[in-house]
Amino acid sequence: MSQTPSSSAELLRGEGLPNFGAITPDLVRSAIPLLLAELEQRLEDIENDLLQAGPITWERLMPPLQQIGERLRWSWGVVGHLLGVCNTKELREAHQSQQAAVVRFSSRLGQSQPIYTAIEQLAAQFNQLDGCQRRIVEQEKLEMQLRGVGLEAETQQRFNQISEELSALSTRFSNNVLDATAAWELLLDSPEQVAGCPNSLLELLADAARNKGHEAANCENGPWLLGLDHPRYGPFLRFADRRDLREQAYRGFISRAAEANSDLVGEILKLRQEKANLLGYGNWAEVSLASKMAPSVAAVEQLLEDLRAPSIRAANNELKDLEALAGGALQPWDLSYWAEKQRQRLFDLDSEALRPYFPLPQVLDGLFGLCQRLFGIHITAAAGEAPLWHSDVSFFRVSDANSGQPLAAFYLDPFSRLGSKRGGAWMDECLGRQRNSKGDLVLPVAYLICNQTPPVGEAPSLMSFDEVETLFHEFGHGLQHMLTTVEQPEAAGINGVEWDAVELPSQFMENWCYDGTTLDAISRHWKSGEALPQSEREKLLQARTFMNGSATLRQVHLALTDLRLHATWRPEVGINPEELRRQVAETTTVIPLLDEDALLCSFGHIFAGGYSAGYYSYKWAEVLSADAFAAFEDAGLDDEQAVQDTGRRFRETVLSLGGSEAPAQVFERFRGRGPSADALLRHSGLIAA
Ligand SMILES: [Zn+2]
Repeated sequence: MSQTPSSSAELLRGEGLPNFGAITPDLVRSAIPLLLAELEQRLEDIENDLLQAGPITWERLMPPLQQIGERLRWSWGVVGHLLGVCNTKELREAHQSQQAAVVRFSSRLGQSQPIYTAIEQLAAQFNQLDGCQRRIVEQEKLEMQLRGVGLEAETQQRFNQISEELSALSTRFSNNVLDATAAWELLLDSPEQVAGCPNSLLELLADAARNKGHEAANCENGPWLLGLDHPRYGPFLRFADRRDLREQAYRGFISRAAEANSDLVGEILKLRQEKANLLGYGNWAEVSLASKMAPSVAAVEQLLEDLRAPSIRAANNELKDLEALAGGALQPWDLSYWAEKQRQRLFDLDSEALRPYFPLPQVLDGLFGLCQRLFGIHITAAAGEAPLWHSDVSFFRVSDANSGQPLAAFYLDPFSRLGSKRGGAWMDECLGRQRNSKGDLVLPVAYLICNQTPPVGEAPSLMSFDEVETLFHEFGHGLQHMLTTVEQPEAAGINGVEWDAVELPSQFMENWCYDGTTLDAISRHWKSGEALPQSEREKLLQARTFMNGSATLRQVHLALTDLRLHATWRPEVGINPEELRRQVAETTTVIPLLDEDALLCSFGHIFAGGYSAGYYSYKWAEVLSADAFAAFEDAGLDDEQAVQDTGRRFRETVLSLGGSEAPAQVFERFRGRGPSADALLRHSGLIAA
């Protein structure tokens, strides 16, 4: 099949909103090599120019590099995006067929000796650059060093080889988790097997059964198909009365991809260690921290210990309380079940019964209203104004509420789609704020992806409160991407923000779910239009700190496991990575791990995502985000003027400045002082309010 130029243009356009439907696996195979060949040529032209005489200036060096970066980001970014939201075997194979070449080109670009020399020269002319440019140049210099520039030829060859291997291993790791999750199924055909499960879950299970050929499946009579994706697995563990079935699902969940990925874990860690050594660092954790806000491994250990000590005390008490309620010792598959019972007993709060009060359209209405109050922006649906990749997706535009000036746009893809959509939730960049080659301003466009419960029957998507918080979280990332005022692509929005500060706006937004005014605005019964009953509302607010010791301890366990694996694990230490995790677990869990617990094999954040030796950053940023929200508490949440003033200040600092200044400095501009952990410990109920 021959490729017409017009169709390859859909993947090579490099600007504007992508035409997702036109981007086929065949196109990926044919167009990406063309793109790489063109960029290769441009890169050579730049390098040749740099070898000519004449002073190195920002204008001479950076804009041509930014154009190359943007062309690659745009095209390869669309492919990566589709892989996340419309995954098919064909697209995966097409992606895999090009990945090594893309990594090779990126390495070539990131390791160009002439460019590195020019960057160093530029870095030496500090007084000719503005603050944002300086930071970009400094970050670029460090990044190039971390990409192996300056290594001896032979070392560099090995370095590149490792990078390619790691990239392929990560993709394999992630695909194995996706496959293992989709492969585990349990058909339940008697009502007694699903006793305790709420209707929304039964609908979902019956839907899944219908999709797998059980055409007569229905909510009341089954059969019901259980799976390990979060919308089915999470609620089943929480509600199903049949302890043996919860156990079966739990054991399935913790051993996902155990065989397929266990060797990959060790291989990935070994290669990262080797890479760190080639760069002159002692271990991969040091490499990771070199470009982060946290100053050292010791500083991270300290933060985690500060959280561990109060949270393990709280978690032990929480377990004792649950065991008292259950009347005996509990296993891991019992915890969320009895926690739900306890929650209902203490707060009489049935989290499932709240779903009808959080229909997606109402939640969006409240969220958009909040953004208007706080940040002075106006968000409107813009159906039909952009090509979409799936009928679940909507497109929105963002403008300044005062001036009416357009600021940004975003896609929202809210629902879980089994087998074809990666789990979890994320924000990604479709377009970044920048000047195009004609000098026109390009407005940012974000992808907001969630995996919440899809609409069933006539009802809209009825959200659990967790799902509401997740949406607010991703929206916070989206706001930082969309409200940036920086026009340098390396520092606009979330770009250039240190990893451990990047969760500040997202976790900040989650706090608003617990603000009374916001809660009123996001909740209304989807059928009757009734407000969330006062009693439920109070209980929801009180329940916020429920089981927080266990939740915090879980994060500490994951963060410390990640950090120690990357700071201390070597094949020579005589234990495997899973055993190291078990050592960490001794002081970071309250129930011993099961023998078959192979969580590392599905820990995509650190083995397939960008969080290696960086998982701690959730907590690091939570200190910042809790303290940022405390600025609104200090100003008075009931004082509308104070809320708006503080909100505008947040927009003008954290949301506007993005990566153009050091995160500690941006925070101080907003807060008037450095961050304090008190607000986080107080909000979590781990110290007295
Ligand atoms: Zn996030």
